[in-house]
Amino acid sequence: AKSKGRAQTCFFDHAMTRQMAKRREIEADLRKALKQNELSVFFQPIVDLESGRIKTFEALVRWFHPEKGEISPAEFIPVAEETGMILTLGNWVTAQAAKVAMTWPADVNVAVNLSPLQIRAPGASLGIKNALQAAQLDPRRLEIEVTETLLIEDNHATTLFISELSELGVKFALDDFGTGFSSLSYINTFPFSKIKVDRSFVSSMQVGRRSEAIIRAVAEMGSTLGMEIVAEGVEDIEQLQAVRAAGCTLGQGYYFSRAVPDHLAAILLSKERDS
Ligand code: C2E
Ligand code: CA
Ligand code: CA
Ligand code: CA
Repeated sequence: AKSKGRAQTCFFDHAMTRQMAKRREIEADLRKALKQNELSVFFQPIVDLESGRIKTFEALVRWFHPEKGEISPAEFIPVAEETGMILTLGNWVTAQAAKVAMTWPADVNVAVNLSPLQIRAPGASLGIKNALQAAQLDPRRLEIEVTETLLIEDNHATTLFISELSELGVKFALDDFGTGFSSLSYINTFPFSKIKVDRSFVSSMQVGRRSEAIIRAVAEMGSTLGMEIVAEGVEDIEQLQAVRAAGCTLGQGYYFSRAVPDHLAAILLSKERDS
């Protein structure tokens, strides 16, 4: 029994050491990537479920490593958050997104994801304002997606950030709704214009009637409060029909398009505007 215990300790030690080494490697690589233009911003359409038209593009960061290939944001965003690099990275993404949005028709918005750290950082709203100003983008065309984890602690900096930018006309969306510690009080406290229902709800709609009932209830609440409800991760026509029937007003997912580089986003827009 004794030797078994020891072996187990070693196993965990190795696993942890490996994981830490991997993080450090990502960190070093990411520093280089920021300097050497290995990052780019892709855009995924968010579509009006009634008209089928693109209302917003969500900006999603992409990393194409010269040797390792594409690295997922799910892998490097947490590292960027831990190391504080998210501040530089996030401001860069917002600036890029604002610049690209200026090339679209004025009724198409752009959404960016902000991590809690970015919002709590001193002078956080300045990074956003600078990006808007540099691009000359109307603040009303910018949407900021935040997750519930941000709101758990009722932080003064967060409240200030949201109210300062809301005053300029920037809109806020509650991302990944249904995955975290959802509380209706957030929706009551913060001026969200959108709620994005997480993909896990959308994909389980066909299986269970319960998730359908939940989406329906959220959509009903949204329409009463004047918020749009976005169904995330719509992958096929059945899901599209289901979320539409449940009352979602907007949809996003592979059924419509994956995130694409800016030149393809422009083509998507020009196609729908020609017809
Ligand atoms: P998210 O904000 O929930 O973004 C949606 C994710 O779902 C994206 O993954 C998108 O490519 C993926 N997706 C969209 N439609 C579908 C679908 O129909 N099926 C499936 N299976 N997936 C779909 P991505 O780009 O890998 O990003 C993952 C997460 O990384 C994002 O989740 C977001 O939390 C974070 N992230 C991405 N870009 C940024 C950024 O610039 N800043 C920050 N702070 N976080 C970012
Ligand atoms: Ca998002
Ligand atoms: Ca999401
Ligand atoms: Ca997510």
